Amino acid sequence: MTPFNYRCTDCGRTYTRDEVRYLCPECGKAYRPGIPLLGVLEAVFEYETIRKAFDRTHPDWNLFCPVEKEFHPPIQVGNTPLARVDRLGADLGLASLWVKNDGLNPSGSLKDRASFLVVAEARRLGIELIVAASTGNAASALAAVCASTDTKALIFVPEKAPKAKLVQMVLYGATVVPIKGTYDDAFALSLEYTAQRGGLNRNTAYHPLTIEGKKTAGLEIWAQLGFQVPEAILVSVGDGVILGGVHKAFVDLQRAGLIDRLPRLIGVQAETSDAIHRYVETGIYSDAPNPTTRADSISVTCPSNAHGARRAILESQGLTLTVTDDEILAAQAQLASRTGIFTEPAGATALAGLVKLQASPHRLAASASVVILATGHGLKDVDAPLAHISIPPAVEPTLAALTL
Ligand SMILES: *Cc1c(COP(=O)(O)O)cnc(C)c1O
Ligand SMILES: [Zn+2]
Repeated sequence: MTPFNYRCTDCGRTYTRDEVRYLCPECGKAYRPGIPLLGVLEAVFEYETIRKAFDRTHPDWNLFCPVEKEFHPPIQVGNTPLARVDRLGADLGLASLWVKNDGLNPSGSLKDRASFLVVAEARRLGIELIVAASTGNAASALAAVCASTDTKALIFVPEKAPKAKLVQMVLYGATVVPIKGTYDDAFALSLEYTAQRGGLNRNTAYHPLTIEGKKTAGLEIWAQLGFQVPEAILVSVGDGVILGGVHKAFVDLQRAGLIDRLPRLIGVQAETSDAIHRYVETGIYSDAPNPTTRADSISVTCPSNAHGARRAILESQGLTLTVTDDEILAAQAQLASRTGIFTEPAGATALAGLVKLQASPHRLAASASVVILATGHGLKDVDAPLAHISIPPAVEPTLAALTL
């Protein structure tokens, strides 16, 4: 760990780590559930310390970590593979295309990274209960990480979350409360719960260490590319915290003098869950009133990190785009059949965006090094693709019955 303070991303006030817990005490006063978070805090490290201590031959990632190692849960999170995918690259006219397969985390999604750090923080603070609202993956991640420690997880999820995710949470031993409502309803209820009844709230972006946890995906991409910054990274976007976290990785590296430019961040949303896309395009925020996408992990009316996500896109000279559910499911099949990587619909949304981009005038140059973040494992939701494929009928087990 390197010493750090929190700084408000809206007003710039700084606080020591134990002076604040969630939002900036000033800006957060104007926050109420149902609008994007205000006063989201970012960790600002002693970058000179990182610059002096960081050694590429033996990288010590704890230098970028805001919680002391002694509190880290005993479960292996992150260090997921970055695969070079030449067959898919050839489809898209890209000579250097890579997929970061974060579905290979313990609970099967990138959310394990955020949960890992919030559980570490709870252990540091001596708090025994963590509360979260989730579309499904944040909750299964929290449940998994908590299962490796004595920390308890209380989870509010929409009752319509995919079965596999609900099964995970229950098996990992969390207290699961399905909500008759949306993810946004669960988010509001969990805030009320921790305010009135206690526990540490893990809601995305609300707890600043969720962003720091997701940051590790970006640090790994840099290291896995031989300490090179890629041209572009494509990220599927729901609340905009993965996007914000990946951005923070490169901001930290730049502040520490280890890199001299940021990758372009390309945020991809589902057409019916497009609040951040419209915010980036117009500069005016409004909710996505009816998010009906099958990519459940990015289905959100009011993205909690809308302001931070927009800043990340603008600062990185990136862009956003939207894709339809048909495009998402086609990308899921293309990724699986061209690379062997099976990701859930939300994970394939980033590829769907790249496919669309490469067919447009804004296409990325053939020589650009491009990374797709595959954020969750395909087995988390097999019902979504099942609606679009057919399993062949059974035949008699004789050669004569085969037409192949
Ligand atoms: C949570 C999640 C996302 C989106 O992350 P945000 O931080 O909400 O933008 C994308 N894909 C998967 C699989 C997820 O679980
Ligand atoms: Zn503030």
